[in-house]
Amino acid sequence: MGMSGHRTISKKNKKLSNLKGSCLCGQVCYRIKGVVRDVVNCFCEQCRKTSGHYVAATRVNKNNLVLSKQATLNWYESSEGVFRGFCSQCGANLFWDDGYDEQISIMAGTLDSPTGLTTIANIFTQDASDYFEIPRVDS
Ligand SMILES: [Zn+2]
Ligand SMILES: [Zn+2]
Repeated sequence: MGMSGHRTISKKNKKLSNLKGSCLCGQVCYRIKGVVRDVVNCFCEQCRKTSGHYVAATRVNKNNLVLSKQATLNWYESSEGVFRGFCSQCGANLFWDDGYDEQISIMAGTLDSPTGLTTIANIFTQDASDYFEIPRVDS
């Protein structure tokens, strides 16, 4: 089971945005400058276990992610060199940093809406649990 699927970015699914987001309790807040990727759903076991369901994530250049509040931001090393950012107060999943390149994944549900993004792909669908149907993605 690789984690490489999160890295999938095609140029046509990049959008210019000026988005904001936060965790549930508001102790972690961020802004995104510049280009963001559309949303990819990941059903891998790690995303399932950490989110309680599945992860829907956008992806940005790390330099374009500005943490305006981060007092309760903690990082869990879910695989060697791979870190999941979460709020230690409210438990929200926020970030996934695979250390692979200059980019970081951001859990799309933590973005303030409307986001202007669309969902473009399902990955690691074979790891999904059996209690629900994988949402259809038309791409
Ligand atoms: Zn929080
Ligand atoms: Zn995953």
